[in-house]
Amino acid sequence: MAFGFAQAFRTFGKLALAGAIGASLAAGDVGAEQKAPSPGSAKGQFGAASLPTQGPAQPIGFYAKGCMTGAVALPTDGPTWQAMRLSRNRRWGNPAMIALLERFSQDAVGYAGWSGILVGDIAQPRGGPMLNGHSSHQIGLDADIWFTPMPARHMTAKEREDLPFTTMLQKDKFLTVDPKVWTQSRARLLMLAASYPEVERIFVNPAIKKKMCDTWTGDRTNLGKLRPIYGHDSHFHIRIKCPPGAAGCTPQAPVAAGDGCDKSLAYWFTPAPWAPPKPPKPGAKPPKPPREMMVSDLPKACAAVLDAASVASMQAATYGGSSAASALTAAPAAEPAADDEGDLPDVGPVPNDKPAIQ
Ligand SMILES: [Zn+2]
Repeated sequence: MAFGFAQAFRTFGKLALAGAIGASLAAGDVGAEQKAPSPGSAKGQFGAASLPTQGPAQPIGFYAKGCMTGAVALPTDGPTWQAMRLSRNRRWGNPAMIALLERFSQDAVGYAGWSGILVGDIAQPRGGPMLNGHSSHQIGLDADIWFTPMPARHMTAKEREDLPFTTMLQKDKFLTVDPKVWTQSRARLLMLAASYPEVERIFVNPAIKKKMCDTWTGDRTNLGKLRPIYGHDSHFHIRIKCPPGAAGCTPQAPVAAGDGCDKSLAYWFTPAPWAPPKPPKPGAKPPKPPREMMVSDLPKACAAVLDAASVASMQAATYGGSSAASALTAAPAAEPAADDEGDLPDVGPVPNDKPAIQ
């Protein structure tokens, strides 16, 4: 596919920096710390909830405007995953999301030649807007996965706080994947994640989407699920559909048919997405800052979610129960496979069965 990249780069050379900044601005996980929320703000209230509600798991509202009940926590450690940035207390999700992450982590080892996954933010205990970072991740159906493979040993809590993000992009070029960092196993990991029927979207940096469009030679059925967006250059973001029976969950329109290697991607390689906002005309009133989202802006049921009784403890609501606790001492996965494992099978539409060739 031709984006006229060289031309674009010459034309928009000045935007290279903007592109690089665009990559890190929304790096997803670490939006700048914001000023203290005002009383009644949704992020202040939901950010203060330390435990989920009792009762059945229900996503309420939309990915970027909602909350949840009955969340469960991903155990901090499993044989094929480790949760990161534990201090944020964002390991919570709908059980469908947590189950998928565990399965994905196992499949990542079996199918993608990956050593295990590092899981970033999922959601707060009762969902809702966060004090910093994401605008979505509010109903327990979004999760961030690092492009960095899991190390072969358990990291300490401090290491999980401090491990820096590694961008997949070249820092001195406009929207370009760094060939020294990017690997086929990362491509497989993405297509594996896209292969699950419940996964509706995977957000990646436009440069990564372009790389996939240009180089993925396996089954392209699910390539359209990879959606280009700012940031997402050191992690990718998995979004699953509203689970069956989740009546209060507002679904998102399905992605358009096709692989998405089209105009919708080419747009990101034009100046438009990276242009700074126009300065106000002299004498014009300064624009009002966007209003903080209040609890009353969320679906009505979310106010009751804030008031609902908590589960007894974090442990009580950890997915997998007592077996999850034992996972804390489980042996980590083997050393990462080499990255040039050219013989692994392409990831087909649904990895229900083990591939014929291992
Ligand atoms: Zn995310």
